[in-house]
Amino acid sequence: MSITVVGSVAYDTIETPAGRRERCLGGAATYFSLSASFFTDVRVIAVVGDDFGPEQQSVFAARNIDTRGIEHTTGKSFFWEGSYLENLNEARTHNTELNVFASFDPKIPGAYRDSEFLFLANIDPVLQRRVREAMPDVKLVAGDTMNYWINGHRPALLEVLKGLDILLINDTEARMLAGNNNLVQAARAVMALGPRFLVIKHGEYGATFFHGSGKGKTGEHTFRAPALPLEQVVDPTGAGDSFAGGFFGYLAAQPELTPGAFRRAMFYGSVMGSFACERFGTDRLQQLSRPEIDARFEVFRELTHLD
Ligand code: AMP
Repeated sequence: MSITVVGSVAYDTIETPAGRRERCLGGAATYFSLSASFFTDVRVIAVVGDDFGPEQQSVFAARNIDTRGIEHTTGKSFFWEGSYLENLNEARTHNTELNVFASFDPKIPGAYRDSEFLFLANIDPVLQRRVREAMPDVKLVAGDTMNYWINGHRPALLEVLKGLDILLINDTEARMLAGNNNLVQAARAVMALGPRFLVIKHGEYGATFFHGSGKGKTGEHTFRAPALPLEQVVDPTGAGDSFAGGFFGYLAAQPELTPGAFRRAMFYGSVMGSFACERFGTDRLQQLSRPEIDARFEVFRELTHLD
């Protein structure tokens, strides 16, 4: 099984209580693909500028991620600057420069066409939709977005939501999108916009899974996975995308999408999100191994085991 992902490949300047890093490799598609690559084959669609060199390329190559869909063009790569000084659960954005993404026209390599899973990582919903329409035969489509697009590009985002099976979004964004502060009501309102499945992320408090085919009884189709209580959160950047990579990567590797598979996927998402926070940027994901992932999955089992 393989996942095709479209999203930002970026440089990030990040400030957290643990320190500051200038222009480290980041972007939603970068975190997602590194994380998902521990579970399944990953293919990326993005655009980068001439500041993206062999060193950055080797980060993808080391995880066998297919980068034939990353277009190289003249100009600067996407740049984002944010901080987490007051609240580790929510980034404060200081600067967003779309740069080469502003004129990006995604082209899907022929070799990507047999992907059964598609992930629309955080980027302009116009680009997400174009890729979705160019890959009509995929089995399962998931996506993510953020306040930047919810506030400024809502009509385009609503079109994307219609074509999604699964939306992953953080709780502030879910409330913003639904215009409703109650999580359950907001979840229902968001699912009415398109996605059958919804994952609402709560930062250090875990994530909640909603399945919309229920009869209104929240208990039946709601499931919550915790986050791992970490002694130090060095850098939460990319935790959401790493969660998505673990969640969707695990699902893509399953023979059948059973309710149990979704529950375990929520835990693998939490596992990957916890690793991403341990060091700045993608450092921890680059050093990670599958046995470490499976060992942490067992820690989560212990953390939530009742009897
Ligand atoms: P998260 O998993 O939500 O922490 O995502 C962090 C990543 O999102 C960073 O590496 C940024 O480069 C990227 N990012 C920030 N703002 C945007 C945006 N408006 N569109 C796409 N990607 C973004």
